[in-house]
Amino acid sequence: MTRKVRTRIAPSPTGFLHLGTARTALYSWAYARHYGGEFVLRVEDTDVARSTQDSVDQILASMHWLGLDYDEGPIYQMQRLDRYRAVIGQMLAAGTAYHCYCTPDELTAMREAQKERGEKTHYDGRWRPEPGKVLPPVPQGVPPVVRFRNPPGGDVSWDDLVKGRITINNREIDDLIIVRPDGVPTYNFCVVVDDWDMAITHVFRGDEHVNNTPWQINIFNALGAPLPLFGHVPVILGDDGQKLSKRRGAVSVTAYEEAGFLPEAMLNYLARLGWSHGDEELFSRDQLVQWFDGQHLSKSPAQWDAAKLAWVNAHYIKQTDAAVLATLVVAQLKRLGIEATAGDSLNRMCALYRDRCATTVELAQWLAMYFAPVNPSAEDLAAHVTDAVRPAVATLRDKFAGIEWNKPSIAAAIKETLAAHALKMPQLAHAVRVLVCGRAQTPSVDAVLELFPRDAVIARLQSA
Ligand code: GLU
Repeated sequence: MTRKVRTRIAPSPTGFLHLGTARTALYSWAYARHYGGEFVLRVEDTDVARSTQDSVDQILASMHWLGLDYDEGPIYQMQRLDRYRAVIGQMLAAGTAYHCYCTPDELTAMREAQKERGEKTHYDGRWRPEPGKVLPPVPQGVPPVVRFRNPPGGDVSWDDLVKGRITINNREIDDLIIVRPDGVPTYNFCVVVDDWDMAITHVFRGDEHVNNTPWQINIFNALGAPLPLFGHVPVILGDDGQKLSKRRGAVSVTAYEEAGFLPEAMLNYLARLGWSHGDEELFSRDQLVQWFDGQHLSKSPAQWDAAKLAWVNAHYIKQTDAAVLATLVVAQLKRLGIEATAGDSLNRMCALYRDRCATTVELAQWLAMYFAPVNPSAEDLAAHVTDAVRPAVATLRDKFAGIEWNKPSIAAAIKETLAAHALKMPQLAHAVRVLVCGRAQTPSVDAVLELFPRDAVIARLQSA
């Protein structure tokens, strides 16, 4: 019987939602949605010292922002300790796990001796029960760890959804610690019990976990649990070809939200980073779900490309309803210290400038001139507000005082002024832009001016 597709994302709440984890979440989510399955969010919080509620909140907010809705969860590992203990009890009883009383000093000595003999360091199995073997006497006062009794020989193999067939010989695998001396079970064990209990059928995760998978498969088998399929997604490299890391720039979803990227753009860009559907670069959430069948995942590391992300974001900004942009811009303007309210006027501003912006931060930078004084540069003033143009600026200002304040009347006033002073459009338009907008390039000047209050325009032209 084929099982219903169930995928999961299992972030550790020790920081923001990392872009790599967000991409894995996206693949897991899209895969579940494509096959009409379910997507589970599990919080791997057994690293008690580093896990925080704040991080959980950030991760949930980023998932929500990206629109990655989950059918179950968040499920917290720390709330499942009793279940892990019960399974450990069963494994100890079945002989697939055993107590090991080696002290840290003993383990160090073991490794040193192996190094001296030129051997690869490994746990030598001194507490591993074998038929007919006499174990050392249990020492006093040493809290034991629990180790998994790995199969002694043979291969572990799986058909990785991304990397293809992978085979490891069991002789290369140590008996893994599955419960620490403090009684807390370790990642490789909890993840198996969880994936089993949660009936996970497909595990997508970063390829830093590929070395853990043989252990996990052996534990699944020891428990008689059905194996999920695994897909290990290559790392994301930064612009400089090194692994994307905090030191190399923004790595969290939150940082991109703050930097003015739209969730649909992040979703599109992240999905394409490591996966393809023909030559498609721009696709909607629905198309992604329709196309994401687990094929065409790239085997090689993906390269983060800030310019491409900006291009994708610009595409979505152009398509976004002005009223939606306006609410985002209010938040961005606030970061610039400007209070603006959403409404018709802001909507019109967004509609006028959205075609030239890669982010909502850029949009806010454009719109700031409508809410705060501008500071034209000395070069722009010298280049465009010349003695030849100044009298025309004065004429225009006077005309502006007496017209209806709308785009056609503004255009007509400019035309009359040009005729009266025998000037060309760019000469006057540049001067007006520098004075009113603080920069020489803008969309069509009549459209730009219409969105200012008349008095503000006249006051700024006064400074010529
Ligand atoms: N907590 C692990 C991580 O954040 C999850 C690994 C897994 O998906 O199995 O890397």
